Amino acid sequence: MVGGGQLARMTHEAGIPLGIRFKLLSDTPQDSAAQVVSDVVIGDYRDLDTLRDFARGCDVITFDHEHVPTEHLRALEADGIPVRPGPGALVHAQDKGVMRARLDAIGVPCPRHRIVSDPADVAAFAAEGLPQGAEGAGGAEGDGFPVVLKTVRGGYDGKGVWVVDNVAQAEEPFRAGVPVLAEEKVDFVRELAANVVRSPHGQAVAYPVVESQQVNGVCDTVIAPAPDLDRGLALKAEEMALSIAKELDVIGHLAVELFQTRDGRILVNELAMRPHNSGHWSMDGAITSQFANHVRAVLDLPLGDPRPRAPWTVMVNVLGGDYPDMYSAYLHCMARDPQLKIHMYGKDVKPGRKVGHVNTYGDDLDDVLERARHAAGYLRGTITE
Ligand code: ADP
Repeated sequence: MVGGGQLARMTHEAGIPLGIRFKLLSDTPQDSAAQVVSDVVIGDYRDLDTLRDFARGCDVITFDHEHVPTEHLRALEADGIPVRPGPGALVHAQDKGVMRARLDAIGVPCPRHRIVSDPADVAAFAAEGLPQGAEGAGGAEGDGFPVVLKTVRGGYDGKGVWVVDNVAQAEEPFRAGVPVLAEEKVDFVRELAANVVRSPHGQAVAYPVVESQQVNGVCDTVIAPAPDLDRGLALKAEEMALSIAKELDVIGHLAVELFQTRDGRILVNELAMRPHNSGHWSMDGAITSQFANHVRAVLDLPLGDPRPRAPWTVMVNVLGGDYPDMYSAYLHCMARDPQLKIHMYGKDVKPGRKVGHVNTYGDDLDDVLERARHAAGYLRGTITE
């Protein structure tokens, strides 16, 4: 696996019972996965020679992030190394412009969007969204702002995303020199994620659609399955994710981040082709976790059952707080809730950084939510009793 973050750490963990020999390319020995994997190469994934040396002798290469340059992946394939997901699929998770164009072509509903060239073009894009005849009319419809701007590459956890209210604010995203995608600001009631896993044989499984709650652009809470989601809409979202996986020839885990709009539609926000934060609940809440299924998929083994073990599972991320030592909180958390599952990533605690997550499950959603939120807050230090 290329990339030494927590996703690699948890993928490694899922491979252990299967006796999979797991080799890691990590930036530093301190990275989350590098701390626990025995076969680690320290190096830069942007360097083709490093990648080639790393890949020699591997049966298959997969990733904990989407940043390996497409041309390097094509070179590995030319060397005869199976790359899963392959570069042709992965580019849709690397480049939001490519992703939007392809989803349009296969008829998947997305927010209104187009690539914009400068702030004046952003204003034109905003005006294009006004009801016919309203342009320049002022009043409640105004000028079509706010607009969401995104650099097509390199964003994560809300970085590389701007909500702009006027032309002056639209200057900033263009400074990076990367193409900028403009999108309508979707009036969503909540964010959902449809997670699926697909193998080279074409077998695919769908996890129940989950609700994903963000705080300051960072995933905070995931509820599986999404509460009160209309059954028809849930099926539609699962089918959409399965068809995206098939059309794009995704191998491994695919997360499709979705907006549920006020008028009952589902729009695709973005794609991630690797295990994903919205699937962490599955480690304790599903019969087969996203990590175990990702391993099975990239090795072309039959996939495991994605169904939930309990009516409700809640995942809450543990962010770094003011206390560097979270271990001392274990005593209270474990004693208070013997069913609590804690997953810590071995990362240094820095304020706001994702350093772990907790999972809880049970029959009563309010109780399950309260237990997960309490544990995450106590670990972080925002709750003290
Ligand atoms: P990242 O690469 O950081 O994951 P996203 O495209 O997922 O970027 O955007 C981050 C967050 O910004 C989303 O989770 C959502 O809350 C908000 N957002 C993104 N695009 C839109 C949009 N078109 N309309 C409204 N909110 C959006």
